[in-house]
Amino acid sequence: MAHPASRPELESSSAATVSAGPSPGPTPADLLRRLRARGAADPVTHVERVPARPGVPAPWPSWAPPELRAAFARRGVVAPWQHQAQAATLAYEGEHVVVATGTASGKSLAYQLPALATLLADPRATVLYLAPTKALAADQLRAVAALELEGVRPACYDGDTPRAEREWIRRHSRFVLTNPDMLHHGVLPGHAQWSGFLRRLAYVVVDECHTYRGVFGSHVAHVLRRLRRQCARFGSTPVFVLASATSGDPSTAAGRLTGLPVTAVTEDASPRGGVTFALWEPPLLPPDSGSSTPVPPQSTGDHDDLQQIRRSALRETADLLADTVAEGVRTLAFVRSRKGAEVVAANARRALDDAVPGLGDRVAAYRGGYLREERRELERALLHGDLLGLASTNALELGVDLVGLDAVLICGYPGTRASLWQQAGRAGRSGQEALAVLVARDDPLDTYLVHHPEAIFGAPVEATVLDPANPYVLAPQLACAAFEAPLTPADLALFGDGAKEAVDQLVAAGALRQRPTGWYWRHRERPEVDLRGEGGAPVCVVESSTGRLLGTVDGGSSHFLLHSGAVYLHQGVSYVVDDLDLVDGCALVHAEEPDWSTHARDVTDLSVVSVRSYVDAGPVGMFLGEVDVTSQVVSYQRRRIATGEVIDTRPLDLPARELRTVAVWFTLSPQSLTLAGVQPADVPGALHAAEHAAIGLLPLMATCDRWDIGGLSTAVHQDTEAPTVFVYDGHPGGAGFAERAYGTASAWLRATRDAIAECGCESGCPSCVQSPKCGNGNNPLSKPDAIRVLDVVLANLPE
Ligand SMILES: [Zn+2]
Ligand SMILES: [Zn+2]
Repeated sequence: MAHPASRPELESSSAATVSAGPSPGPTPADLLRRLRARGAADPVTHVERVPARPGVPAPWPSWAPPELRAAFARRGVVAPWQHQAQAATLAYEGEHVVVATGTASGKSLAYQLPALATLLADPRATVLYLAPTKALAADQLRAVAALELEGVRPACYDGDTPRAEREWIRRHSRFVLTNPDMLHHGVLPGHAQWSGFLRRLAYVVVDECHTYRGVFGSHVAHVLRRLRRQCARFGSTPVFVLASATSGDPSTAAGRLTGLPVTAVTEDASPRGGVTFALWEPPLLPPDSGSSTPVPPQSTGDHDDLQQIRRSALRETADLLADTVAEGVRTLAFVRSRKGAEVVAANARRALDDAVPGLGDRVAAYRGGYLREERRELERALLHGDLLGLASTNALELGVDLVGLDAVLICGYPGTRASLWQQAGRAGRSGQEALAVLVARDDPLDTYLVHHPEAIFGAPVEATVLDPANPYVLAPQLACAAFEAPLTPADLALFGDGAKEAVDQLVAAGALRQRPTGWYWRHRERPEVDLRGEGGAPVCVVESSTGRLLGTVDGGSSHFLLHSGAVYLHQGVSYVVDDLDLVDGCALVHAEEPDWSTHARDVTDLSVVSVRSYVDAGPVGMFLGEVDVTSQVVSYQRRRIATGEVIDTRPLDLPARELRTVAVWFTLSPQSLTLAGVQPADVPGALHAAEHAAIGLLPLMATCDRWDIGGLSTAVHQDTEAPTVFVYDGHPGGAGFAERAYGTASAWLRATRDAIAECGCESGCPSCVQSPKCGNGNNPLSKPDAIRVLDVVLANLPE
């Protein structure tokens, strides 16, 4: 899961939690002035004042029973905010609705209000609540139970629920909280036992629905269709209420997820404190400078000549943390990896101790997996000022209730605007201004963002993407549906595009039998379908010394993550892989925490299977279609965690693998490239550089990670017979990312072009055209020619 968000408290305003703590330090503006005055060059690219916003309360809807209002009032909710009231009323009136507003804007009230009002009014009605994690469901259970409403009997039903309690819950609970996996594996196959509950189902709540993206999201979309089908069989048509982080086009995403028309409520009416938000780009280090970042001692000859590098975001963040702590400012630094958080804390401590011996003790690192008491202790130490600085992974988003920090440092863009705001939202004591700083990593997306503040502070851009028509998802889901009840022609419309083809395939494969009344599952046992699996049997990760099974990795990622020598992280603990046994589907590992990370490299071949859609734009063509990708992981790099320095590259002996997926690609005529001034010899480097940057910028358009997508570029491709750049989904059957790229091609490639052009480096760096996962060691790459290539595409492509 990308970023399982913490559940905002019911009371959306944290105004009640006025914290004591040390006396106010410098104002955010003063503090920022001092921080940026340290070096020769000003690292700040933009300062945004996010003004405080007063909340807009609304009266309780007239349909909300007094009993329910009183229950909320006891929990401190005097009146709903406007967006809560609006969404709740839409849902109460029977409209499917998605609330997509900021962190801590009180989305839970928007579904609790109509759901609970209905349960109170109709003593038979039931509600099903779905969360992406058990922890979130448990949180929500506490919140609903605390309202102490007569006859609701809320209960969690998941893998941890004791057998003895399950039957009671099915019979008596009217507010069941579970997750999509349990719905898929437990509730739907056992629908006969759930018939009473499903027959009376009034609402389905899908919380944190933006986490259902990519292949997993596509599976969940069909699980929800299967739920709707069972409800229809039992005679109910529940209203869907979805809650999402702020995202682009939430109505479309929610519609794809549920298969229903969904109205979006996006106007956030909850109050917010003022924040001074600075975008910070660490300086480029001069080539071969006697800088504090050591030049790789044994840079491996044939590639990786990364002479020009930026000061690492970790070092920059550590310095900022030391400086703010020295000013007496309570600061939280978010770092993406646990090891990185420890490096930041250690460096800040050292810097502080150098200045004032003992001052380093005021800084700590925080990792996931702390016990509840340990977390409370940490909260207390920060609140009372014993601790002033904390470096943490986003584990902190999950369990620690920290409010009232003066400054938040975000080391590297956390992947989505939703996460960014969630982290920045930790800053701000009641009624006081706070400082947030995003420190850019050496990466095209981070670099683009610090130079394009409108992409952060303007309209939301990223959309949650999923593709229910993926045949690799659709066929197994239809098999599950057929096991639950024979499929009828009418069902096929419910499952959408491609359902008929998928059913025909299942018949041909002997999984379904066609009869006059429909399609029947032929086997006794039910189909084995893993919602989170992505093709290929999962590989078990086993600790050699104890034989303990640590977990599994899907087959598709195993070559990348579990090759011999790979550093593998499991729940924050680091292991090194001794051996990957592909025959047994098992990787043997031992616990070890080296100070390097590993990065697998592969070689790729691609052929076009079919074209779904294209734009003919003169010398330029833009295509969406199916492709076969053959790739082989051939080696891996070891890199120092603190500096990113390459230690060495080691060969691997793994077989090639095939992937049929969806790609977006563009072609250019050789003449148009010559006219634009790209010499024939430079075409490969130009396309390759454009490909890398395009992959790096795609997460701006869709909530994917650059690791979800792959690319290939070539001066002449055998299928297109032209210079071509391919970008493909790294999941069998596609995950919707390439499709989204195709749909937003000109905006996506415009951002890509600007990111390259605006990078201050001379000939390409990790901030623009170099890729951390390049199969060719970032060679050849031509930065200026990549801009020319993209200019040709943009000049011809319609907006
Ligand atoms: Zn650059
Ligand atoms: Zn490459």
